[in-house]
Amino acid sequence: MTRRSKKIMWIVIAILAVILIGVLLSDVFDKAKNIAYSTFYEKLDSGEITSVKIDGFIWTGKAYDANGKLVETYKTIAFDGYGSADFINKLVEAGVTVKFVDPNESSIWERILPIVGVVVVALIFWAIMRSAAGGGSAAMNVGKSKANVQSNIKVRFTDVAGAEEEKEELQEVVEFLKSPKKFSNLGAKIPSGVLLVGPPGTGKTLFAKAVAGEAGVPFFSVSGSDFVEMYVGVGAKRVRDLFDLAKKNQPCIIFIDEIDAVGRRRGAGLGGGHDEREQTLNQILVQMDGFENSDGIIVMAATNREDILDPALLRPGRFDRRINVNLPDVKGREQILKVHARNKPMAADVNFKTVARITAGFSGAELANLLNEAAILAARAGKKLIGNLELYDGINKVLMGPAKRSRVVTESDKRCTAYHEAGHAILASLCEHCDPVHEVSIIPRGRAAGYTMTRPETDDNDVSYNKLVDNICMSLGGRVAEELVIKDITTGASADIQHVSEIARRMVTQWGMSDKLGLVAYDSDQPVFMGMEYGHQSRGGYSQETAAAIDAEVRRLVAEAHERAKKLLTENRSILDNMARVLVEKETIYNEEVSLLMKGASYKEVIEAMENAEESHRANPFVRVTATDKAHVIEDETEKVEETKTTEAVETVETSAEENTEDKE
Ligand code: ADP
Ligand code: MG
Ligand code: ZN
Repeated sequence: MTRRSKKIMWIVIAILAVILIGVLLSDVFDKAKNIAYSTFYEKLDSGEITSVKIDGFIWTGKAYDANGKLVETYKTIAFDGYGSADFINKLVEAGVTVKFVDPNESSIWERILPIVGVVVVALIFWAIMRSAAGGGSAAMNVGKSKANVQSNIKVRFTDVAGAEEEKEELQEVVEFLKSPKKFSNLGAKIPSGVLLVGPPGTGKTLFAKAVAGEAGVPFFSVSGSDFVEMYVGVGAKRVRDLFDLAKKNQPCIIFIDEIDAVGRRRGAGLGGGHDEREQTLNQILVQMDGFENSDGIIVMAATNREDILDPALLRPGRFDRRINVNLPDVKGREQILKVHARNKPMAADVNFKTVARITAGFSGAELANLLNEAAILAARAGKKLIGNLELYDGINKVLMGPAKRSRVVTESDKRCTAYHEAGHAILASLCEHCDPVHEVSIIPRGRAAGYTMTRPETDDNDVSYNKLVDNICMSLGGRVAEELVIKDITTGASADIQHVSEIARRMVTQWGMSDKLGLVAYDSDQPVFMGMEYGHQSRGGYSQETAAAIDAEVRRLVAEAHERAKKLLTENRSILDNMARVLVEKETIYNEEVSLLMKGASYKEVIEAMENAEESHRANPFVRVTATDKAHVIEDETEKVEETKTTEAVETVETSAEENTEDKE
């Protein structure tokens, strides 16, 4: 049932309820006292009842006091329909007012009910007609009223804490909206669509609002999920109305929240997809193609499921700018806490640095929620200030929430991930043919517990034997670091191991890089993407012995790299320890810190350098993720089920990041 006909249903129910209550009340208000006819007669005779209403057998008599005020109403069943003429005349002569009720006259309810019936039937009929027809003028009203317009937005970038990179990227959009002419006169090309990608609660909506607030332009927002339960044609119409309205109010921002609800890959759904959704999506695409960006309209959209978006949405001229809004790091968390504590009285001994440290994995929304919970707890305890006790209880409360339970990152998890990533990063720096390390992080991202990013210095696409061998070595770094330090190994290296065996196997079977097997291709070299060839790979075409030889060669390559990785990390154990410590403390480090650490800087020196030069770490957003992501499965029930997909998820990250590098060039 559509929303609108539900509304009409309610109206009908309300009308019927009013009638029912009316009928009941009219009975309640009928306060007439039932008395015997003999008593009634006496009262008439004594002159107490001075007015009689005769409605067939039912006689109602009224008694008034000296001031003419009604004292009592009596009711009785009389002997005869309308009494005899004599009797009535006698009453009249005695000065009693006698009134007759027309026997053919219906009561007020009897007159209203048929009208009400007709109205109810008409309303129901109208509702059915409307949901069947769709479109039409009434639907236009639905469309118009749904877009939420805010023109005096108070949110500023200072309200969004900790996301400096994202702010810098969006600053460009703000400047454009402030004076579109300045840009268009110079022929500058401004992105028409900005897609904010990130997990829930990281401030995507907040960011979009802040851009409108900073630029001082109106903010038109809709949510993709609003379009889902709608009659055919209305979604598309609403999109058109929204863009028309925006064009009349430029410069402005159109914000489509949860765009994945309408922007899913077309034709992908079961049973041929969802007509209404596709029409809505098509309309968004048409509208985005339809305006020149000199118009001064920027379309922003938010999603946490970029992977399911229709590729058409991401094409140039549409959402061609993507901004990743990630979970905050320690420093970001501290700043978010401070922003949300602005109007809350905090006890003097509260240290947000400490709170930030123990809330790894919390999103901005969860941090805001934690402060709110703490404030409630303090109020309930009758305190004037929010103290540490309330904050810790607040953390627990948020942790118990449904979304969070899974993502708790304990200190020992953090340390383990830190060593794992440091292992990758150190080997990448030590191996001559590896790309330089760009960023190392232990902030959970998707299904990965941490990641190490390297970035090629040149566009050289040739992959040499040495480069591959070094790549294998570096990919094993995570596992080796765990072996050396934690003395126990985790499942966190599964994606690394997949990656390593994949490369080693292809070196042997496709690229002729094994002396033992020679320059023979044992697998057809179809353009398969890493991670996609499982399942449909036959081992046909060569003998059992060859298969065994291949396996032996693959194992040799990996074992050699493993030995080398172990040797290198053992020799550089102090660097490993320092880097892991810095990672636990700062969560994300960049190339500068990595090279400092590689030169032998101590933990303290690096932390100091970071604090002195926080600004210099503005990373280039267009980076390449190597497949060294530690696809550690985080203890989440739903993710446990999807365990087999782990590598795929990591692979997606890698691919899209690669595409991004290309976009830039
Ligand atoms: P999303 O749209 O990414 O799901 P929201 O923008 O709706 O997240 O964020 C929800 C709330 O969380 C915000 O209203 C704000 O109070 C808080 N929040 C999230 N990120 C930040 C941040 N970086 N700085 C300050 N507050 C934040
Ligand atoms: Mg949101
Ligand atoms: Zn790894």
